[in-house]
Amino acid sequence: MLNKASLVKILAQPQKIIITTHHKPDGDAMGSSLGLYNYLIQLGHHVNIITPTDYPDYFNWMPGNDTVIIFTDFKEMAAGLIEAADLVFCLDFNALSRINEMGELVRNSKAKKVMIDHHLEPEDFDDYRHWDINACATAQLVYTFITQVLDDKKLVTKDVATCLYTGILTDSASFRLPNTTSAVHRITADLMDAGAVNWHIYDLVYDNSAENRLRFLGLCLYSRMEVLYEYNTAVISVTKQDLEKFDIQTGDTEGIVNYGLSIAGIKLAAFFVERSDKIKLSLRSKGEFPANEICKRYFNGGGHRNAAGGIWEGSLAAAVEEFKTLLPKYKKLLIQ
Ligand code: 5GP
Ligand code: MN
Repeated sequence: MLNKASLVKILAQPQKIIITTHHKPDGDAMGSSLGLYNYLIQLGHHVNIITPTDYPDYFNWMPGNDTVIIFTDFKEMAAGLIEAADLVFCLDFNALSRINEMGELVRNSKAKKVMIDHHLEPEDFDDYRHWDINACATAQLVYTFITQVLDDKKLVTKDVATCLYTGILTDSASFRLPNTTSAVHRITADLMDAGAVNWHIYDLVYDNSAENRLRFLGLCLYSRMEVLYEYNTAVISVTKQDLEKFDIQTGDTEGIVNYGLSIAGIKLAAFFVERSDKIKLSLRSKGEFPANEICKRYFNGGGHRNAAGGIWEGSLAAAVEEFKTLLPKYKKLLIQ
Protein backbone atom coordinates (compact mmCIF):
# COMPACT_ATOMS: atom_id res chain seq x y z
CA MET A 1 0.00 0.00 0.00
CA LEU A 2 1.02 3.61 -0.55
CA ASN A 3 0.15 6.39 1.83
CA LYS A 4 -0.54 9.94 0.73
CA ALA A 5 2.94 11.19 1.66
CA SER A 6 4.70 8.51 -0.39
CA LEU A 7 2.42 9.11 -3.37
CA VAL A 8 3.12 12.85 -3.20
CA LYS A 9 6.85 12.07 -3.02
CA ILE A 10 6.70 9.77 -6.06
CA LEU A 11 4.81 12.40 -8.07
CA ALA A 12 7.47 15.00 -7.21
CA GLN A 13 9.85 13.26 -9.65
CA PRO A 14 9.16 12.59 -13.36
CA GLN A 15 7.58 9.14 -13.72
CA LYS A 16 6.40 6.86 -16.50
CA ILE A 17 2.65 6.95 -16.03
CA ILE A 18 -0.24 5.08 -17.65
CA ILE A 19 -3.82 6.24 -17.28
CA THR A 20 -6.50 3.71 -18.13
CA THR A 21 -10.26 3.47 -17.88
CA HIS A 22 -13.11 1.02 -18.50
CA HIS A 23 -13.87 -0.53 -21.88
CA LYS A 24 -16.23 1.35 -24.18
CA PRO A 25 -15.28 4.57 -22.38
CA ASP A 26 -18.01 7.13 -21.78
CA GLY A 27 -17.78 10.88 -21.12
CA ASP A 28 -16.65 10.43 -17.54
CA ALA A 29 -14.08 7.78 -18.45
CA MET A 30 -12.54 10.01 -21.14
CA GLY A 31 -13.07 13.30 -19.30
CA SER A 32 -11.45 12.10 -16.09
CA SER A 33 -8.57 10.40 -17.96
CA LEU A 34 -7.82 13.41 -20.15
CA GLY A 35 -8.28 15.81 -17.22
CA LEU A 36 -5.70 13.90 -15.19
CA TYR A 37 -3.44 13.63 -18.28
CA ASN A 38 -3.48 17.40 -18.84
CA TYR A 39 -2.59 17.91 -15.18
CA LEU A 40 0.21 15.34 -14.98
CA ILE A 41 2.04 16.45 -18.13
CA GLN A 42 2.54 19.86 -16.54
CA LEU A 43 4.63 18.17 -13.83
CA GLY A 44 7.02 16.73 -16.42
CA HIS A 45 5.77 13.14 -16.22
CA HIS A 46 5.77 10.88 -19.25
CA VAL A 47 2.07 10.06 -19.54
CA ASN A 48 0.10 7.76 -21.85
CA ILE A 49 -3.63 7.11 -21.80
CA ILE A 50 -4.50 3.59 -22.93
CA THR A 51 -8.19 2.75 -23.40
CA PRO A 52 -9.17 -0.93 -23.66
CA THR A 53 -11.42 -0.22 -26.68
CA ASP A 54 -12.51 2.61 -28.92
CA TYR A 55 -14.97 5.28 -27.78
CA PRO A 56 -17.55 7.61 -29.36
CA ASP A 57 -16.18 10.22 -31.72
CA TYR A 58 -18.19 12.96 -29.99
CA PHE A 59 -15.44 12.93 -27.32
CA ASN A 60 -12.62 13.34 -29.88
CA TRP A 61 -12.44 17.10 -29.44
CA MET A 62 -11.13 16.98 -25.87
CA PRO A 63 -7.61 18.36 -25.35
CA GLY A 64 -5.05 15.55 -25.40
CA ASN A 65 -7.34 13.17 -27.32
CA ASP A 66 -4.79 12.81 -30.16
CA THR A 67 -2.36 11.08 -27.80
CA VAL A 68 -4.79 8.35 -26.63
CA ILE A 69 -3.71 4.79 -27.44
CA ILE A 70 -6.52 2.30 -28.10
CA PHE A 71 -5.32 -1.06 -26.80
CA THR A 72 -7.06 -3.17 -29.44
CA ASP A 73 -5.24 -1.22 -32.19
CA PHE A 74 -1.74 -1.32 -30.67
CA LYS A 75 -1.61 -4.30 -28.31
CA GLU A 76 2.13 -4.92 -28.29
CA MET A 77 3.13 -1.32 -27.86
CA ALA A 78 0.54 -0.83 -25.12
CA ALA A 79 1.62 -3.99 -23.28
CA GLY A 80 5.23 -2.72 -23.34
CA LEU A 81 4.19 0.65 -21.93
CA ILE A 82 2.19 -1.00 -19.13
CA GLU A 83 5.10 -3.27 -18.23
CA ALA A 84 7.57 -0.38 -18.10
CA ALA A 85 5.30 1.98 -16.14
CA ASP A 86 6.07 3.30 -12.65
CA LEU A 87 2.46 4.25 -11.95
CA VAL A 88 -0.88 3.16 -13.41
CA PHE A 89 -3.92 5.33 -12.73
CA CYS A 90 -7.12 3.28 -12.93
CA LEU A 91 -10.02 5.65 -13.51
CA ASP A 92 -13.77 5.08 -13.37
CA PHE A 93 -13.72 1.31 -12.84
CA ASN A 94 -13.60 -0.94 -9.82
CA ALA A 95 -12.44 -4.34 -11.14
CA LEU A 96 -9.68 -5.31 -13.57
CA SER A 97 -12.18 -7.34 -15.61
CA ARG A 98 -13.62 -3.98 -16.75
CA ILE A 99 -10.48 -3.33 -18.83
CA ASN A 100 -10.65 -6.68 -20.66
CA GLU A 101 -7.30 -8.17 -21.70
CA MET A 102 -5.46 -5.22 -20.20
CA GLY A 103 -6.56 -6.34 -16.73
CA GLU A 104 -3.91 -9.03 -16.30
CA LEU A 105 -1.20 -6.80 -17.81
CA VAL A 106 -1.99 -4.14 -15.21
CA ARG A 107 -2.22 -6.70 -12.40
CA ASN A 108 1.19 -8.16 -13.32
CA SER A 109 2.92 -4.83 -13.88
CA LYS A 110 5.38 -3.78 -11.18
CA ALA A 111 3.85 -0.30 -11.33
CA LYS A 112 2.05 1.13 -8.31
CA LYS A 113 -1.67 1.29 -9.01
CA VAL A 114 -3.79 4.27 -8.08
CA MET A 115 -7.58 3.83 -8.22
CA ILE A 116 -9.77 6.90 -8.62
CA ASP A 117 -13.37 5.74 -8.81
CA HIS A 118 -16.96 5.95 -7.62
CA HIS A 119 -18.27 2.39 -8.17
CA LEU A 120 -19.48 0.11 -5.38
CA GLU A 121 -17.43 -2.79 -4.04
CA PRO A 122 -14.00 -2.17 -5.56
CA GLU A 123 -11.70 -5.13 -6.18
CA ASP A 124 -8.53 -5.10 -4.12
CA PHE A 125 -5.83 -4.57 -6.78
CA ASP A 126 -4.67 -1.03 -6.04
CA ASP A 127 -1.90 0.52 -3.92
CA TYR A 128 -3.60 3.87 -3.37
CA ARG A 129 -7.31 4.62 -3.51
CA HIS A 130 -9.19 7.91 -3.95
CA TRP A 131 -12.70 6.49 -3.97
CA ASP A 132 -16.15 7.74 -3.04
CA ILE A 133 -19.41 6.14 -4.14
CA ASN A 134 -21.22 9.40 -3.43
CA ALA A 135 -19.28 11.25 -6.11
CA CYS A 136 -21.39 11.94 -9.20
CA ALA A 137 -18.44 11.32 -11.50
CA THR A 138 -14.87 10.11 -11.41
CA ALA A 139 -14.02 13.52 -12.88
CA GLN A 140 -15.23 15.06 -9.61
CA LEU A 141 -12.77 12.80 -7.76
CA VAL A 142 -9.92 13.69 -10.12
CA TYR A 143 -10.65 17.32 -9.25
CA THR A 144 -10.48 16.64 -5.49
CA PHE A 145 -7.40 14.43 -6.03
CA ILE A 146 -5.59 17.36 -7.69
CA THR A 147 -6.89 20.10 -5.39
CA GLN A 148 -7.08 18.30 -2.03
CA VAL A 149 -4.78 15.25 -2.08
CA LEU A 150 -2.06 17.02 -4.11
CA ASP A 151 -3.02 20.58 -3.11
CA ASP A 152 -2.36 21.78 -6.66
CA LYS A 153 -5.39 23.86 -7.68
CA LYS A 154 -3.15 26.29 -9.58
CA LEU A 155 -2.50 23.58 -12.19
CA VAL A 156 -6.20 23.16 -13.01
CA THR A 157 -5.78 24.83 -16.39
CA LYS A 158 -8.40 25.43 -19.04
CA ASP A 159 -7.56 22.04 -20.61
CA VAL A 160 -7.84 20.19 -17.29
CA ALA A 161 -11.07 22.01 -16.44
CA THR A 162 -12.65 21.37 -19.85
CA CYS A 163 -12.10 17.62 -19.60
CA LEU A 164 -13.25 17.35 -15.99
CA TYR A 165 -16.35 19.43 -16.71
CA THR A 166 -17.22 17.01 -19.54
CA GLY A 167 -16.96 14.05 -17.15
CA ILE A 168 -19.23 15.67 -14.58
CA LEU A 169 -21.73 16.88 -17.19
CA THR A 170 -22.14 13.44 -18.75
CA ASP A 171 -22.08 11.22 -15.64
CA SER A 172 -24.55 13.42 -13.76
CA ALA A 173 -26.91 13.21 -16.78
CA SER A 174 -26.54 16.99 -17.20
CA PHE A 175 -26.72 17.75 -13.47
CA ARG A 176 -29.99 15.83 -13.06
CA LEU A 177 -29.12 12.87 -10.83
CA PRO A 178 -29.56 13.03 -7.03
CA ASN A 179 -25.77 12.89 -6.52
CA THR A 180 -25.47 16.33 -8.18
CA THR A 181 -24.90 18.01 -4.82
CA SER A 182 -24.15 21.63 -4.04
CA ALA A 183 -20.50 20.54 -3.74
CA VAL A 184 -20.65 19.35 -7.36
CA HIS A 185 -22.01 22.72 -8.46
CA ARG A 186 -19.19 24.48 -6.54
CA ILE A 187 -16.65 22.32 -8.35
CA THR A 188 -18.24 22.99 -11.74
CA ALA A 189 -18.21 26.71 -10.93
CA ASP A 190 -14.46 26.41 -10.16
CA LEU A 191 -13.98 24.58 -13.46
CA MET A 192 -15.78 27.38 -15.32
CA ASP A 193 -13.58 29.94 -13.54
CA ALA A 194 -10.58 27.92 -14.72
CA GLY A 195 -11.76 28.22 -18.33
CA ALA A 196 -14.31 25.46 -19.02
CA VAL A 197 -17.00 26.93 -21.29
CA ASN A 198 -20.18 25.15 -20.13
CA TRP A 199 -22.48 25.87 -23.08
CA HIS A 200 -19.81 25.06 -25.65
CA ILE A 201 -19.01 21.70 -24.01
CA TYR A 202 -22.73 20.86 -23.95
CA ASP A 203 -22.95 21.72 -27.63
CA LEU A 204 -19.94 19.55 -28.55
CA VAL A 205 -21.24 16.54 -26.64
CA TYR A 206 -25.00 16.66 -27.14
CA ASP A 207 -25.82 18.83 -30.13
CA ASN A 208 -23.43 17.15 -32.49
CA SER A 209 -25.48 14.20 -33.78
CA ALA A 210 -25.58 12.78 -37.25
CA GLU A 211 -29.07 12.67 -38.79
CA ASN A 212 -29.19 8.86 -38.70
CA ARG A 213 -28.69 8.85 -34.95
CA LEU A 214 -31.71 11.07 -34.36
CA ARG A 215 -33.84 8.98 -36.74
CA PHE A 216 -32.71 5.83 -34.93
CA LEU A 217 -33.89 7.41 -31.67
CA GLY A 218 -37.25 7.93 -33.41
CA LEU A 219 -37.43 4.22 -34.24
CA CYS A 220 -36.58 3.25 -30.65
CA LEU A 221 -39.30 5.47 -29.18
CA TYR A 222 -41.97 4.83 -31.80
CA SER A 223 -41.78 1.11 -32.35
CA ARG A 224 -39.17 -0.55 -30.14
CA MET A 225 -40.46 0.55 -26.74
CA GLU A 226 -42.88 -1.33 -24.53
CA VAL A 227 -44.33 0.37 -21.46
CA LEU A 228 -45.34 -1.97 -18.65
CA TYR A 229 -47.49 0.31 -16.50
CA GLU A 230 -48.20 -2.51 -14.06
CA TYR A 231 -44.54 -2.32 -13.07
CA ASN A 232 -43.82 1.33 -13.91
CA THR A 233 -41.20 0.05 -16.31
CA ALA A 234 -40.28 0.90 -19.90
CA VAL A 235 -38.28 -1.49 -22.07
CA ILE A 236 -36.61 -0.63 -25.38
CA SER A 237 -35.01 -3.42 -27.37
CA VAL A 238 -33.20 -3.12 -30.69
CA THR A 239 -31.88 -5.77 -33.04
CA LYS A 240 -28.63 -6.04 -34.94
CA GLN A 241 -30.62 -5.33 -38.13
CA ASP A 242 -31.89 -2.05 -36.62
CA LEU A 243 -28.30 -1.03 -35.88
CA GLU A 244 -27.20 -1.90 -39.40
CA LYS A 245 -30.12 -0.17 -41.08
CA PHE A 246 -29.32 3.13 -39.34
CA ASP A 247 -25.51 2.67 -39.46
CA ILE A 248 -25.29 2.95 -35.67
CA GLN A 249 -21.72 3.23 -34.32
CA THR A 250 -20.07 2.99 -30.89
CA GLY A 251 -21.74 5.40 -28.53
CA ASP A 252 -24.70 6.19 -30.77
CA THR A 253 -27.03 4.30 -28.41
CA GLU A 254 -25.73 6.14 -25.34
CA GLY A 255 -28.47 7.89 -23.39
CA ILE A 256 -31.45 6.35 -25.24
CA VAL A 257 -32.35 4.37 -22.11
CA ASN A 258 -33.05 7.61 -20.24
CA TYR A 259 -36.07 8.44 -22.43
CA GLY A 260 -38.07 5.66 -20.75
CA LEU A 261 -37.73 7.47 -17.43
CA SER A 262 -39.21 10.65 -18.88
CA ILE A 263 -42.70 9.04 -18.98
CA ALA A 264 -44.66 10.13 -15.89
CA GLY A 265 -44.59 7.48 -13.19
CA ILE A 266 -41.94 5.29 -14.79
CA LYS A 267 -39.34 4.19 -12.24
CA LEU A 268 -37.30 1.71 -14.23
CA ALA A 269 -36.08 1.92 -17.82
CA ALA A 270 -34.27 -0.81 -19.71
CA PHE A 271 -32.46 -0.74 -23.03
CA PHE A 272 -31.45 -4.01 -24.67
CA VAL A 273 -29.23 -3.97 -27.73
CA GLU A 274 -28.13 -6.92 -29.82
CA ARG A 275 -24.38 -6.54 -30.32
CA SER A 276 -22.37 -8.90 -32.54
CA ASP A 277 -21.92 -11.70 -30.01
CA LYS A 278 -24.10 -10.82 -27.02
CA ILE A 279 -26.92 -8.71 -25.69
CA LYS A 280 -25.98 -5.54 -23.80
CA LEU A 281 -28.38 -4.21 -21.20
CA SER A 282 -28.52 -0.69 -19.76
CA LEU A 283 -30.79 0.00 -16.82
CA ARG A 284 -31.75 3.32 -15.28
CA SER A 285 -33.96 3.82 -12.25
CA LYS A 286 -35.41 6.53 -10.08
CA GLY A 287 -35.10 6.88 -6.31
CA GLU A 288 -34.26 3.84 -4.21
CA PHE A 289 -34.75 1.23 -6.91
CA PRO A 290 -31.52 -0.86 -7.16
CA ALA A 291 -30.84 -1.16 -10.89
CA ASN A 292 -27.36 -2.49 -10.09
CA GLU A 293 -28.82 -5.42 -8.12
CA ILE A 294 -30.77 -6.66 -11.16
CA CYS A 295 -27.70 -6.31 -13.38
CA LYS A 296 -25.46 -8.10 -10.90
CA ARG A 297 -27.85 -10.98 -10.12
CA TYR A 298 -29.28 -11.71 -13.55
CA PHE A 299 -27.10 -10.05 -16.18
CA ASN A 300 -23.51 -10.60 -15.10
CA GLY A 301 -22.98 -6.87 -14.59
CA GLY A 302 -23.27 -4.15 -12.02
CA GLY A 303 -23.01 -0.39 -11.64
CA HIS A 304 -24.66 2.27 -9.54
CA ARG A 305 -28.09 2.18 -7.91
CA ASN A 306 -29.68 4.39 -10.58
CA ALA A 307 -27.47 3.51 -13.57
CA ALA A 308 -26.24 0.01 -14.22
CA GLY A 309 -25.46 -2.38 -17.03
CA GLY A 310 -24.85 -5.98 -17.86
CA ILE A 311 -24.74 -8.61 -20.58
CA TRP A 312 -26.76 -11.63 -21.64
CA GLU A 313 -25.38 -14.60 -23.53
CA GLY A 314 -28.33 -15.70 -25.65
CA SER A 315 -31.03 -14.23 -27.84
CA LEU A 316 -32.49 -10.74 -27.57
CA ALA A 317 -35.97 -12.18 -27.01
CA ALA A 318 -34.73 -14.40 -24.16
CA ALA A 319 -32.96 -11.48 -22.48
CA VAL A 320 -36.11 -9.33 -22.56
CA GLU A 321 -38.20 -12.29 -21.37
CA GLU A 322 -35.85 -12.91 -18.43
CA PHE A 323 -36.11 -9.23 -17.50
CA LYS A 324 -39.90 -9.25 -17.63
CA THR A 325 -40.20 -12.39 -15.52
CA LEU A 326 -38.16 -10.91 -12.71
CA LEU A 327 -40.22 -7.71 -12.49
CA PRO A 328 -42.92 -9.24 -10.22
CA LYS A 329 -40.22 -9.82 -7.59
CA TYR A 330 -39.61 -6.07 -7.54
CA LYS A 331 -43.23 -4.99 -7.92
CA LYS A 332 -43.49 -3.55 -4.42
CA LEU A 333 -40.53 -1.24 -4.97
CA LEU A 334 -41.73 -0.31 -8.44
CA ILE A 335 -45.27 0.70 -7.60
CA GLN A 336 -44.72 2.47 -4.29
P1 5GP B 1 -24.24 1.85 -19.34
O1 5GP B 1 -25.65 1.46 -19.24
O2 5GP B 1 -24.08 3.32 -19.63
O3 5GP B 1 -23.42 0.97 -20.21
O4 5GP B 1 -23.63 1.63 -17.89
C1 5GP B 1 -24.08 2.33 -16.79
C2 5GP B 1 -23.19 2.00 -15.62
O5 5GP B 1 -23.35 0.62 -15.32
C3 5GP B 1 -21.71 2.18 -15.90
O6 5GP B 1 -21.28 3.41 -15.43
C4 5GP B 1 -21.07 1.07 -15.14
O7 5GP B 1 -20.88 1.50 -13.82
C5 5GP B 1 -22.12 0.01 -15.05
N1 5GP B 1 -21.95 -1.11 -15.98
C6 5GP B 1 -22.32 -1.16 -17.27
N2 5GP B 1 -22.05 -2.37 -17.81
C7 5GP B 1 -21.49 -3.09 -16.83
C8 5GP B 1 -20.97 -4.43 -16.77
O8 5GP B 1 -21.01 -5.22 -17.72
N3 5GP B 1 -20.44 -4.81 -15.56
C9 5GP B 1 -20.42 -3.99 -14.48
N4 5GP B 1 -19.89 -4.45 -13.34
N5 5GP B 1 -20.89 -2.74 -14.51
C10 5GP B 1 -21.41 -2.29 -15.66
MN1 MN C 1 -18.23 7.37 -13.96
